[in-house]
Amino acid sequence: MTDSSSEEAPQPAYMIEGARSSRSKCKTCRKGIDKGAVRLGILVEGPFGTGYMWHHLKCAARNQFAKLEEAYAMEAWQYASEEPKGLPGLEELRKLKEEADNKKKERKVIPYAEHAPSGRAKCKASGETIPKGALRVALGQEVEFGGQVRISAYLVLPHMVAEALAQPDIVAGREIEPFELLDHLRENSKSLSDEDFAELEQQIGELR
Ligand SMILES: [Zn+2]
Repeated sequence: MTDSSSEEAPQPAYMIEGARSSRSKCKTCRKGIDKGAVRLGILVEGPFGTGYMWHHLKCAARNQFAKLEEAYAMEAWQYASEEPKGLPGLEELRKLKEEADNKKKERKVIPYAEHAPSGRAKCKASGETIPKGALRVALGQEVEFGGQVRISAYLVLPHMVAEALAQPDIVAGREIEPFELLDHLRENSKSLSDEDFAELEQQIGELR
């Protein structure tokens, strides 16, 4: 049986501790938490009782910083049976959160269109250099990787879109038909103006 006193004493909303075993799994990254690694427990009341959901401290920083901040404010490590070793400061964790936020902002969804940030890239379909500032379109290239099909960006000049899409491994996006391309470009390319889209539409031409 586990500790019977836990029924009487209310459990704190958060717990920060060194993992007492290596059996728990991080609810953020789904990987195991090594024994001794610092983990954040978030008390969750579920239909089958009350218990802690565990997260690596760094995973919590990247994905639920507000909760981690609350846990630090109440010094949630004081409830641990053993004080965790190597507890990072909140400022160090805040940096992780900011890095993660920036990455999320930069993550582009295929297909998208943009003005070329430099003049170094070449159109994958024609081999022409894409001039700095010119409109370019990122289609998807299906690549098989470890038994899974992944889609990576295939950058082309707008006038080469139709020709590129005729290649068997080039797609408008994941489960996106060519005729849907323009709608998705609008959705995924917030930095472009209406004039940019008019130009794109004209250069891309009709897609079936
Ligand atoms: Zn994790």
